[in-house]
Amino acid sequence: MNLILIGAQGSGKGTQASLLVEELGIVHLSSGDVFRNAVKLGTPVGLEAKEYMDRGAFVPDRITIRLILDMLAQPEYTPGVVLDGFPRTRDQARALDEALPELHRAIDRAIYLNVPRETLFERLSGRFVCRDHQHVFNVKTKPPLVPGLCDIDGSPLIQRSDDTPAVIEKRLHDFFEQTIPVVHYYRAQGKLLEIDGHQPIERVGALLIEGLGITIEESR
Ligand code: AMP
Repeated sequence: MNLILIGAQGSGKGTQASLLVEELGIVHLSSGDVFRNAVKLGTPVGLEAKEYMDRGAFVPDRITIRLILDMLAQPEYTPGVVLDGFPRTRDQARALDEALPELHRAIDRAIYLNVPRETLFERLSGRFVCRDHQHVFNVKTKPPLVPGLCDIDGSPLIQRSDDTPAVIEKRLHDFFEQTIPVVHYYRAQGKLLEIDGHQPIERVGALLIEGLGITIEESR
């Protein structure tokens, strides 16, 4: 199964992607993680992307589309993929649709986790990640056991450079302007599964599994 998970930053996309990976045995491909990794490694793509990422701006399509499509062609994604953070523009969605037949695959469903803008802002401004493995905590909704330290690996918690209030505003604006058209794009194809993401994590996960029509036994 090949899925797209669409949701603004702070919509709980990462958590639900992990659930899908576990239940369906498919592979998670997060464009944000791909870019952050490239920045960390100091690759040419990373150096160029960093400038956009720090401002909360989209990395240009000419870089993003090539990078993600190249990754999708790798054998590790053959079992199926849950795409997270890509496509984020209508042009990216079209490029994906054009490239997939060559890889002998197609998108089965696009899932939209719908969360109100005010809730997203509140969630994002409380978000911290650990320095060593980017485990996510939230001072309001998921505080660490020891303030300032990761529960899992003990490394210090830091705020991502793109989680400051001005940058959060910009990212949410871009999501509603540029990525909501991607939701409409998949709705027109009859592939959209829209889920109310303003609910407890477990409930959202249950709705997702139900909406995709999978039973836990079937998927194992
Ligand atoms: P994320 O973790 O998904 O919020 O992504 C972090 C940053 O990576 C974004 O703010 C963008 O700068 C960049 N990025 C990730 N995915 C895309 C995409 N599909 N198109 C353009 N830029 C992206």
